[in-house]
Amino acid sequence: MKEAFLNRMKLLLQEEYEEYVKTLDMPMYRGVRVNTLKCAVEDFTKEFPHSLSVSPFCKESFYISPQIASLGNHPFHSCGLFYMQEPSASSAVEILDVQEGEWVLDLCAAPGGKSTQIAAKLKHTGFLLSNEIDVGRASVLLSNMERLGVGENMITCAKPEELCKALQGHFDKVLVDAPCSGEGMFKKHDSAMEGWSEEHVNACRYRQLHILESAYKALKQDGILVYSTCTYAVEENEQVVYEFLKTHPDMELVDSRASFGRGGFAYEDLPVSYVRRIFPMDRGEGHFIAKMRRISANEQTKLVYEKEKKLPNCVISFFQEQLSVLPMHWMMDEQRVYVRQAPFLRLKNIRILRQGIACGEVRGQRLEPHHHFYLSAFLRPYLKSTTELTKEEAILFYSGNVLPKEHRKGYTALTYHGYVLGLGKGDGVCIKNKLPKGLRCSVDGNLF
Ligand code: SAM
Repeated sequence: MKEAFLNRMKLLLQEEYEEYVKTLDMPMYRGVRVNTLKCAVEDFTKEFPHSLSVSPFCKESFYISPQIASLGNHPFHSCGLFYMQEPSASSAVEILDVQEGEWVLDLCAAPGGKSTQIAAKLKHTGFLLSNEIDVGRASVLLSNMERLGVGENMITCAKPEELCKALQGHFDKVLVDAPCSGEGMFKKHDSAMEGWSEEHVNACRYRQLHILESAYKALKQDGILVYSTCTYAVEENEQVVYEFLKTHPDMELVDSRASFGRGGFAYEDLPVSYVRRIFPMDRGEGHFIAKMRRISANEQTKLVYEKEKKLPNCVISFFQEQLSVLPMHWMMDEQRVYVRQAPFLRLKNIRILRQGIACGEVRGQRLEPHHHFYLSAFLRPYLKSTTELTKEEAILFYSGNVLPKEHRKGYTALTYHGYVLGLGKGDGVCIKNKLPKGLRCSVDGNLF
């Protein structure tokens, strides 16, 4: 560890420093958060093959043993029943306190831990906009949102200032899980430690204040802004909140009322008992969370919606064949078809990676369905054709093989324990495997 960093931690933690140093030799806390869009917590705890212990941060989040091998290829992971998340990382969304029907903006969203958690709180209502500035990271965000079956959302890849200008004054809640010096991640990524310096901490502070400026713009009157980082530096936490509030007297700090973690470090006249800090001594790798409210009114930009064009007959037939109800709203982008419960928003000059559920692509006189359609948590109860697989068949499915299982001609959702793994196409003799190539993997049967 860098000496300069440890010296700062000594000054910060004082008599707790030795306890903190001991945690550096311990394994990282590991956890899973149940995706309640797809699975009730009680069902998950019964089905999951490893022991789980409840975290203090959120009731859907559990510690798992550091000894467990990677769960990335576990079928319940691939079909979106859970998200691998260090338990204390679930704390910010708990403090955001999302309610059904709200408009929520997650401004720094990749890889999607907090966005998928927000989506579960919204339960397919309201609107979730998940933005990520980095295009590579935005595609990881997209695949995680797809895997967890989120559909009532939009994923953008934009600069916060441009996005928040386009949607000024529309959000009930905004989360800024800011890029930071990542001091709570040093055990996980050596690279975070290598890049650390006091100059970097200060550069992060300027960037954080810049992002908060955009978030402020996006808020409605009475809207809530949660600012979080996974770093310990006061400069990026209490100081950022203090400086932001100083320049925005129409924002107030709100008591987070959290039952976990501890208050902040004294900084000027900031009421630091209102903010939350989590250290490894509090059973999480490290988080800072502050909750603020916008008191002043805010002008709203006018929302523009996409015009719904008539769908080609092959798409209507596909919906009739696959779903027991017809989608409420749809959009065609060239040959690709998307559906949502709410009308589709049009945003000028903003790169939209996804809005709604990707249903498939029209090719000639037929619709080639998309994996997202079958993984969507909202559509799951309306899927007409499902085919339950045995464990051996599920392993075959993940490896990309044809399933030697008789099925009438047509598409079917393939399930394991009732959870959709993906889609297959019956040809009257067997079921052809339609799992996207990038998702094929070898699954260890002992895992489930
Ligand atoms: N909220 C995410 C989650 O829970 O999975 C983690 C977000 S991570 C701490 C911060 C993100 O901010 C990174 O994905 C990074 O690419 C993005 N970022 C970097 N610079 C940014 C900027 N100037 N404005 C907005 N986001 C930025």
